[in-house]
Amino acid sequence: MDWNLRIIRADITTLDVDAIVNAANSSLLGGGGVDGAIHRAAGPELLAECRSLGGCETGDAKLTKGYRLPARYVIHTVGPVWSGGNNNEAQLLASCYRRCIEIAEQHSLDSVAFPSISTGVYGYPIELASEVAISTIRSMMRDESPIIEVTFCCFSTHDFHVYERLLDRF
Ligand code: ADP
Repeated sequence: MDWNLRIIRADITTLDVDAIVNAANSSLLGGGGVDGAIHRAAGPELLAECRSLGGCETGDAKLTKGYRLPARYVIHTVGPVWSGGNNNEAQLLASCYRRCIEIAEQHSLDSVAFPSISTGVYGYPIELASEVAISTIRSMMRDESPIIEVTFCCFSTHDFHVYERLLDRF
């Protein structure tokens, strides 16, 4: 296999990659957590472009430019709110990762960084969410994909260790 999967602990807004993924809400008009950090770092032009997109369904994703970020693009995706695990959360979370990769491929992007979608305010347990994240990405990366590098960008040391342990198993 030709592509590289890496796990780092960092602030995703500092990453110099083709696209960073934003764990947004369905309005796409900004929020707290990683969403707030991305909007602050990208500047007001990002919100202006987001306003033109008409929101986003849970499990789907939309592309904008990165403006003042080092990343050229932002892929905004809306993760599921965790409500116990029997409300399609895993399917919706997998769909977020899938849609982001599809959009990155459509735009011939070669490096994409993901935060741990839904595991902050939306309450998805990190141990379960990271499994969905890694297995979905692994199942999507094909030889003909333009994507060379996928980064899982963890904000906390704890999350970083969860991902690291899991990667050894896959
Ligand atoms: P959600 O609403 O999808 O749960 P959050 O932004 O609340 O989104 O949290 C998603 C993940 O992003 C959490 O693991 C949180 O620790 C992480 N996070 C918050 N800020 C940043 C950042 N600047 N860079 C990378 N990850 C971040």
